[in-house]
Order: sequence, then structure tokens, then C-alpha cells
Amino acid sequence: MTAATTRSTCPYCGVGCGVLLTPDGQGRLTVKGDPDHPANFGRLCSKGSALAETVGLSHRLMTPRVNGTDTDWDSALDHVAKTFSKTIAEHGPDSVAFYVSGQMLSEDYYVANKLMKGFIGSANIDTNSRLCMSSTVAGHKRAFGTDTVPGTYEDLENADLIVLTGSNLAWCHPVLYQRILAARKSRGTKLVVIDPRRTASCDGADLHLALRAGSDVALFNALLAEIDRRGLLDRAYIDAYVSGADNAIAAAKASDPAITGLSDGDLKTFFDLWIGTEKVVTIFSQGVNQSSSGTDKVNAILNCHLATGRIGRLGMGPFSVTGQPNAMGGREVGGLANMLACHLDLENADHREAVQGFWASPAMPDKAGLKAVDMFRALGEGRIKALWVIHSNPAVTLPDADRVRGAVEGCDFVVVSDITERTDTARGADVLLPAAAWAEKSGTVTNSDRTVSRQRAVLAAPGIAQPDWWILAEVAKRMGFDGFDWTSPAEIFREYATLSGIAGSFGRDFDISDFKDICDADYDTLSPFRWPQSAAKQGGRFFADGGFYHADGKAKMLALTPRDPASMPDEKRPFRLNTGRLRDQWHTMTRTALSPRLSAHLPEPFVDMHPKDADRLGLKPADLVRLTSPHGTSVLRLRRTTDVAPGDLFVPMHWTGETAPSARIDALVAPVTDPISGQPESKASTVAAEPFPAK
Ligand code: SF4
Repeated sequence: MTAATTRSTCPYCGVGCGVLLTPDGQGRLTVKGDPDHPANFGRLCSKGSALAETVGLSHRLMTPRVNGTDTDWDSALDHVAKTFSKTIAEHGPDSVAFYVSGQMLSEDYYVANKLMKGFIGSANIDTNSRLCMSSTVAGHKRAFGTDTVPGTYEDLENADLIVLTGSNLAWCHPVLYQRILAARKSRGTKLVVIDPRRTASCDGADLHLALRAGSDVALFNALLAEIDRRGLLDRAYIDAYVSGADNAIAAAKASDPAITGLSDGDLKTFFDLWIGTEKVVTIFSQGVNQSSSGTDKVNAILNCHLATGRIGRLGMGPFSVTGQPNAMGGREVGGLANMLACHLDLENADHREAVQGFWASPAMPDKAGLKAVDMFRALGEGRIKALWVIHSNPAVTLPDADRVRGAVEGCDFVVVSDITERTDTARGADVLLPAAAWAEKSGTVTNSDRTVSRQRAVLAAPGIAQPDWWILAEVAKRMGFDGFDWTSPAEIFREYATLSGIAGSFGRDFDISDFKDICDADYDTLSPFRWPQSAAKQGGRFFADGGFYHADGKAKMLALTPRDPASMPDEKRPFRLNTGRLRDQWHTMTRTALSPRLSAHLPEPFVDMHPKDADRLGLKPADLVRLTSPHGTSVLRLRRTTDVAPGDLFVPMHWTGETAPSARIDALVAPVTDPISGQPESKASTVAAEPFPAK
């Protein structure tokens, strides 16, 4: 590492790999994996390796713009502050909303949350992380009493069995998958993949269970019932640390494993492996979360680990991996509409009072705000009159995307902070605010195993672009609010760390108050650390010896009944539509599409269909297919493949109105959500398919 090299963190997924950045003085970078970062130890995937190709000036927004006219910061910020204040004065605090992003740094996220919840006095701040892992948050809270991830990445190298369920880790968290492959080589770790689709993660797996879409609760209920039948419940752990086990086991026994569509032989192989291997890690991701029963799916997995005491010890536990680089940080700062900062509860009066006192805030909401899908429904109905979108593109990525785009275009006042104006959402904005991009801003992010890492600015922001915390604080000050006078991210971090100490005093899990007095120099050189910091939680582990956060100190097992997805295939819409990520693209491609080698991997949108279905529809390879749902249509190129089962379709999620106007996939997806988490069911829509043009 030379003097000109700076440590930072990759912005593309929740693995949170460390990178070494060396600027060339001409606005470009060299990027290498950081050999000392505990997430990757020098490894990078294709996206991380191509980071240097995505930092140029192409399509950058460089000056504020109001109603289509470039302007200066003072004019733009005054206009935003005045319009938000006027809207709140006329229609109340719940008439405004922020829609933020797991791409934001924790310091930026903290400021947005403080402004909305503590000063505007509404909880109408939600995030695109609602689409990513909110079912896990809800499942953790139901089981543990807080949103605590028990596992760490070292567990992957110390497990004897790894189960990936609803997770194409090989493409979506590639460096973690590399770590698993290395463990398989050195230790002989077994790998089971549970996914309706055959993905890259299945290559070389010991078992692939192609279960029926949405039947995860039935599968893990069956596992729990089998653990009980074999007499292998950990009664000592349950008696000491778990409530609800009897009811959960009774419900599991009452549920029908045939719902999964799996053969008795495959089920037995899975049960033998899972039950017979003490050191088992069950990794889950969007295939579990993005479901109308996502929270139940999460709890079905947690039930099995709690019933066997396989939690909180090296090499075992349930492990949710987050999609976005700072989805976890967003959870920590309370960036979801139903959370308070630092894992405190919005609906707990003591917690509210403590945070309000700390912030010296004039107003605090006492109930949850609108979750993402409901927020944009309210926007379309005129109940939200002013919206600020930060680093997100909901007009493409939310379900029923055409309606969302219409709602954005029809809203009285929309502000978008982003690095580019070339998004479907920015096109509908009244005010565009130029934000600093990844390599131009400083702060912290938290990855999937609770490791907090620094992101550091190494390039100058172009034009007059500014970091998000500065933009938010300037608007807050112009709205007349105190407490937004920071001059650096380090000051915000100190305030946030101090607040986390209050959370710790309530016995909450998230406490980084060891850093409340960190000086600027130490913040600049801060090494990655995993919370909790306290000596009582040796090794950063939770729950080996109980210590759960419900009032009785116990975890809860839940009695769960499997539910079908909200919409089932029928004669009119016989196909089940699954959506997901590609290996070399990130979200709506605003950055990854700038890299020719990333774009070369799979250069255009497509639909995967089983050859039997394609034959029935008279479709040849590379023909165009039109998919239709009650919400929209999409035209895509056909890929005939047995990777999907007959009746199932898979479509990547990345293309937008900017890059492929006919292929906006979320235009097809119904705005159906999990009743507890509010997470949309993005992987089980029903659609019709036909040749395009019609034959
Ligand atoms: Fe970046 Fe994720 Fe790849 Fe690591 S695995 S290099 S964090 S995209």
C-alpha cells in the first residue's frame, strides 16, 4: 500500500468488501481488494474489480436544478426548505415523505432519519431496503426481541453444512460464495441450495431442492417436525432460553410437506444432512424476504435453529445476508418507517422520550409511518404532497412501477438527490440535487455480519455536488431546526455513537458508544469493527447463552401455517414470474452499465422459460415474448432453459425506462406485501406469456 492509497469499502453489495483505492490525479482510480479487510481478505468479485470503470463523469448531475433550470445551492435549498415547510404548515407533517436508500452512508441516513422523525415530526421515512430485507428485520424482532443478526462470516468457514435458501450467493454475494468454496475445499463443507430455479450457486452443490415457489414455511416446518420426531430437540436450550416451542412444533406437525412439491427422497436427504450436522449455517436472502409470507419464512428458519440450540456458536446459526452495501446501517440508524434510531422502538414511549430528549426535538411521531408500497400509494392518492427521494429509483423498482411513475409525475413537489438525472424517478422531479458519488464521500457502512467499515472520499465531487448529510442538514437549518450544525461526518458519527449508548442503557443490542468521543484523526483511520463492542459479547456473538431481548429474556418460536403466494397461476395467467439479480449488474445499472466488461456478461434483458412451455407457445430461441399482468406488460428476449421449472419464468430486474423501456419488470409485479414487514412479493407474480408480435 503506497502513501497515495486509501482504504474504503465496495458499494455494490452487503458483503462489504474492503478496497484499496489509488487515484491517478486525473480523476481516475486503481481499485484492489484490501488484504486486511475481514470481509474479503483481498478478494473481489467482477463488480468490485470493475469499480474503477464506473467512477467517470458520464451522466453526472453537477448542479442543482429547479423546474428544469440550473441554479445555485442557496436557491435550490431555500426552495426545498420553503416548500416542505409550507406543505407541513398547510397539511400536517404526514403530508410529506422521504424515500431513502441502502446506498446511503450511515451518517447520511442518520441525518435524514433525525430530520423526519425528530423535527418534521412524521415517521414517513422509508427506504428501498424495505424491498431487500424488511421481512428479516420483522422476523428477527419476533424471534429475538430485536433485529439482531447472530452470525458472522467466520461461521461460514467453520460450518460443516451450509444451506442457501432463497439466495443465489454465487452471483449476488460472490465473495461470500468464494469463502464458502474455499471452506468446501479445505474442510469438505456440504452445500445445499433451496431455490425453485437452478442458479449458479447450485453448481457443485451436494443437493438442490427445487421447491415450489413460496413453500419455504412448509419445508422448514417439515424440518422442525422431523427434528421432533427423531427426538433431537435441544430440550436444555429450549427450557432455558426459548418460549413458544410446543405451539411451534404442533403447528409444524400440522403442516403438509407435500406443499413443497419435493420428493420424499429429497426431503429425507435434506433432513438427514441438516439434523445430522451440528455445525449448520442457514443463509437466506431475497427469495425468503420478498414474499407475502416473508416474515413467516424467516421465523420458520429461526425456529429450527432455536429448537436445536444451533445459534450463537462458531460455525452455526441462521444468517440473513443483505442486498445493499448499507442496508444494515440503515437498520441501525432507524431508517425504516417503523423503527427508531439505534434499534429503539418507535412505539415505546420510554424510547421515544429518550431519543426526543437527546435530539432536543420539538416533535416525535408515536406511530409507524408509511412503508414503501403504501407511501407511493399515498402519493398517487394525493395524501403525500411533497416527496424527497435520495439515491433510489422507485419509479422502476417498486411493484406496479407504472403506477408509481405516474404517482411521482403527479405529485405536487418531488425532490431527487442523486448522482445522475438519468433515472425514471428523476425525470418526474421538480428539484434535482447533485449528490457526491461513492468515491467522493466519507462515512461508515455496516455489512451483513455487523462489521462497520469506513468509506473514504478519494476523488473531488464534480461541479458543485455535495454529500447527502450536508444537503439534508442545510435544508433542516433552512426549515428553522437546530441540531444540524455538523461540519463533518465525524461529528455526526460521534453524535450517533452517543445516542447508541442510550440504546445500550435500555438493554438494546446496538451500542457503539465506545466511539462517542472518537477524535477526527481516529475516525479518519478507523479500522473495521464488528458490534457489539462490549467484553460481555466476546467475539461479537449473540445468543449462545440466551440473552434475548424479549421482556422474559427468551427467544420466541412461532407457530406458523404455510400460505400460498397472494396470486396463484390460472388459465388466464398461467406463469409464475420470478425476478432477481445478474452477476455483473447492480440495481438499475446507473453505475455498472458504465463498464463495458460488466455489460458484456448479459447485455440485454431476457426471460428464462422452460423448453416445454416455449414449444407450447411456438417460441424459438431468441424470439421476443410479451409478458402481461393486470399491472403492465413487458417485452423480452426468450432464453429456453431447464434452469426454470415448467410454468416458472425468471427475469432480471435491472433494466429501466432509460435502458430498455419495454422491459420494466416491476411494471408487472403486483403491489402485494407481507402483512407484517410490508415487503413486496417480488418473486411470485402471475403473468400471461405470448409471442411478440402475436402470431
Ligand atoms: Fe463488492 Fe459485493 Fe463483490 Fe464484495 S462481493 S466486491 S462487496 S459486489
